[in-house]
This record gives sequence, C-alpha cells and structure tokens, in this order.
Amino acid sequence: MSEQHLARPEFDLIATIRQRAPIRPPVLVGIGDDAAVISPSPNTLQVVTTDLLTEGVDFLWPDASARQIGRKAVLVNLSDIAAMGARPVAAWVATALPADRGLAFAHELHAGVLEACHEYAVVLAGGDTNTWSGPLVIAITMLGETMTNKPLLRSGACPGDWVLVTGACGGSLLGRHLEPRPRLREVRRMLELAELHAVIDVSDGLSADLQHILEESHVGAVLLAEAIPVHEDALRLADGVTPLDHALADGEDFELIATLAPEEGRRLLARWDLETPLTKIGEITAELGCRLQTVDGHLVDLPPRGWCHTWNTSSLQSRARNGNDSSGE
Ligand code: ADP
Ligand code: MG
Repeated sequence: MSEQHLARPEFDLIATIRQRAPIRPPVLVGIGDDAAVISPSPNTLQVVTTDLLTEGVDFLWPDASARQIGRKAVLVNLSDIAAMGARPVAAWVATALPADRGLAFAHELHAGVLEACHEYAVVLAGGDTNTWSGPLVIAITMLGETMTNKPLLRSGACPGDWVLVTGACGGSLLGRHLEPRPRLREVRRMLELAELHAVIDVSDGLSADLQHILEESHVGAVLLAEAIPVHEDALRLADGVTPLDHALADGEDFELIATLAPEEGRRLLARWDLETPLTKIGEITAELGCRLQTVDGHLVDLPPRGWCHTWNTSSLQSRARNGNDSSGE
C-alpha cells in the first residue's frame, strides 16, 4: 500500500468498496462519480426508502459485530422495499464512523453491507464516508422498482378485508432483530397469487404498524388473539410479559402485514406454497379503532404499542429558553 494511500484512508476505503461493488443495469454509473446514474426499467414505478441506524438505539457495539451492523442496515431497508411490493435495485450507504475505532472496523462494517447487497442482488451504487468523535451512525438509502404497475400502500385497506401476517412475531431481541429476513420472496408470491390492498412491514410492533394501515385507510380492525402467530422467542423470554403481548408490541420482526378481499385471501391461503407461514389474524372493519377478540370471546381495545423515538422535551425547552435551539427541525 503506498504512503499516499495510507495518508488518505477515506479514499482507500472507498476504492476497496468500489472493487467489490460491480454495477449492472439499470445502474449505469455507480461508485466513483459525484452521483449514480440509473435508467428506470420500463413499466415500473421507482420506490425509494431510507433507514438510519444509531448505535445505542438500533444496536449495541460490540454486542453486535461491525459486520452484523452493516448487514442489518441493508436488511431493514429491504424490508421496506418488500412492503411496497417492489424488488430492490440499488443502495447507497452513508456513515458517521467513530474515528477512534479504526479503519478495520470501517472495512468490516462495509463487508457486512456488501455481503447483504450481494445476497439480495442489490447494486451498491454509492455513499458517503465521514469520521467523527461520536458513536456509529449508518444510513442506507435504497431504490427499488415495483413488481406490478402499482405500489402497495398503507392506504388501501377496505372494510371486510382479511388481515394476514407472514412468519411469527415477538421476542426479536433474542437475536432476530440483528438478522432480519426481508420478505421479498413472500411479497412476490403473494402478488402472483392475489390482489393485495395494503401492506406494511413490522418494524415497530405488530399493533403499532397495523395502526398505520388503519389510520391511512380510515378503517378499524378486529384481531383474533388465538390466531396471532407468536414466535418461539417470545415464549422463551419468560420475563413477565405474556408471549402474546410480546408478539403485539416488540417490533423488529420484519414480517409483512397484508390486507386483501376475503375471496382473494381464501384463494391465497389455499395456494400458499412457501415455507414461511402466512396466517389470517383478523379482519378490517368500517368501525374505527383496533380491537382484540380474546380467547374467551371478549372484545377489548388494542391500542397501538411498539417502538417510538422520543425527544427529551425538558432539555429542548431549556435550550429554547436560553435562545440556542439550533436543532433546525
Ligand atoms: P463527494 O466528495 O463528491 O461527496 P466522495 O469522495 O464522498 O465524493 O465519494 C466518491 C464516490 O464514492 C461517490 O460515488 C460516492 O457515492 C462513493 N462513496 C463514498 N463513500 C462510500 C461508501 N461508504 N460506500 C459506497 N460508496 C461510497
Ligand atoms: Mg462525500
């Protein structure tokens, strides 16, 4: 390695990433210029999403390795692409790297990013590399294209729709939160077999994410307690919270919630041939709000529960009082 390279570690790192990030159509220009160039495929819509992971919130280091963090950053974006009924095309990675953690950490992080991109045939088409004195922050932006001529929105649910969920929920903290399995194959198969009305991925919590569909679609829902697929991790937690509550509120399951007309739902479930379970957990109602039918047949309110970022309002207020609120939001 030349001395010039050693003195310019940012560009050395980018050059290494570039070597491992071949481009292919529809990406025409990837890493190496001021911006990437993409040629949209005909008859598709472009969908773009971004997700940012912050050390201490989305992962703990060194509990999670640099490689795992890089992978997770890609996988959570893929889950959003799946939730739009799209296939992934290209990704951009922006990092604020802790300067005191060394270059090997940065290489390992990007090895994780590249690994996940290769697994899902996503072109790594660019990024931005910063170092600073804080903890790790990594943001990925991902471009996808729809598999049909319309995207799957949160706003499409109709009264009478069945509510389906892939896989099982709850207890992701035992490890699954670090290795999401974006439901790209599952959404593709669902679209081949049925017409879907609304889809969302479960990042914050089953009840919290279903609530987004309900609000955007101006509808309500009744879920059946005994139908909710509870992940075995939720049973293993044994921490005083019931497995069902874990399934409804834990989040980071990265499963998909989908709604569709009953006849479509019946046909989809009858023909479902993937290993990933697909389960009917309830129905959409014209009456607003979300309710849970308990095992003994009672209907109880089910408020949205799950992860939500918060602000330290007392410190914001005092900064505002001191006239130096420069948060710029
Ligand atoms: P600029 O100064 O114009 O922002 P950079 O030197 O930051 O240019 O980036 C040069 C090229 O390398 C760009 O194509 C950018 O997208 C890409 N790039 C920078 N950092 C990364 C990274 N961490 N991963 C992938 N590509 C990157
Ligand atoms: Mg830059």
